[in-house]
Amino acid sequence: MWISLPVPDMPHHHLESLAAEVHRTYFSKVPPLTVRWGQQITRKRRRSIRLGSYNHHTTEIRIHPLLNAPNIPAYFIQSVIHHEYLHHILGAAHNRRFHAYERKFLYHREAQEWIRCNLFILLGRRRAEFQKRPPVAPPAVPPQLALF
Ligand SMILES: [Zn+2]
Repeated sequence: MWISLPVPDMPHHHLESLAAEVHRTYFSKVPPLTVRWGQQITRKRRRSIRLGSYNHHTTEIRIHPLLNAPNIPAYFIQSVIHHEYLHHILGAAHNRRFHAYERKFLYHREAQEWIRCNLFILLGRRRAEFQKRPPVAPPAVPPQLALF
């Protein structure tokens, strides 16, 4: 008989350091928020993925644990942290003002470009499968990047 123990994910990114840098650079006027990896580590195909979330009751930020991988650039994780910090400062709405603040993140454009090219990795799909959609399918809702 053997028991499979949960294998701890090899931590790749040091989230506290990434969060501390985002706080220091952009949000030093407010106290730092707690930023943690979320729980879910199952690998499955998804239609969407919630990369980060901000809980306004606990004022904690959660980052999806799938981002803790060597093929995810640090600036992308920081862009998610930055986005969630903005919810702390500006509220829940993704309005014009929110987007204007989002663009203040130094690698905003790079982060957007990176996710545009690499979302398939996070959704657990192969690139070919992701790019080729069935021609006769009813208008499919494209897989979405969800930042909350
Ligand atoms: Zn959001």
